[in-house]
Amino acid sequence: MNLPGPEDYIDIHTHDGAVTDPGIFTVISLMAHEGKQPVNIKSVAYTFGIHPWFLTESAHNSQIAAVIKAAADPSVIAVGEAGFDRLKGPSPDLQRRTFEEQMSVAEEHNKPVVIHCVRAWDELLKAHKRLKPSKPWMVHGFRGNKDLAAQLISKNMFLSFWFDFIIRPEATELIKSLPAERIFLETDGSGVDIKDIYRKVSTDLEVTVDKLKEIIYKNFIEYFNLKIINHGVTRGFTE
Ligand SMILES: [Zn+2]
Repeated sequence: MNLPGPEDYIDIHTHDGAVTDPGIFTVISLMAHEGKQPVNIKSVAYTFGIHPWFLTESAHNSQIAAVIKAAADPSVIAVGEAGFDRLKGPSPDLQRRTFEEQMSVAEEHNKPVVIHCVRAWDELLKAHKRLKPSKPWMVHGFRGNKDLAAQLISKNMFLSFWFDFIIRPEATELIKSLPAERIFLETDGSGVDIKDIYRKVSTDLEVTVDKLKEIIYKNFIEYFNLKIINHGVTRGFTE
């Protein structure tokens, strides 16, 4: 299992093909329909799930089988992105059923979950109440308002901010209103430099980039339930 160090920039959600760079720890979201497998590369970890856009009744069984297989891989550190999309994808019923199946795979493997959610917050919150997950969920690509952010955080969720939203001036007030121990930053395959996102958010939070790295590293340790033995040394740290 590859893990970041406290000096790394962490791009918590991007896609295959993203440029890896020294000093950047990248979490690649593999989607079941792509038919790709995780490969052991330094400074890269994976999440694996069924993206609701690419879910169909006919592909469902083979996609679930792929998630079950991938979840057992130590380089796959979370299940997802999985979730609900009211604008794109199959029926809410198929989305719900497939989400629940993925959640039980996550529980079985003791892994947290990365959430994709578009205009389906009521559905997501209901699912959280019904499933009572033992591991935290991280909502990726967040671009909602303060109230929604606070509501999700109150359910033990982390928020990763949509690259294009977080670099806008209007995002400053939102990010300042949130507990820093609940945030992640991502490029989501956009080609935007994660370092630029860190720079913007460190200015918003009035901390140095190094301090922000430390905050997000600690969030990573917390989200993935890892243990810090000494400062900067993590159980299971390889290479
Ligand atoms: Zn994505």
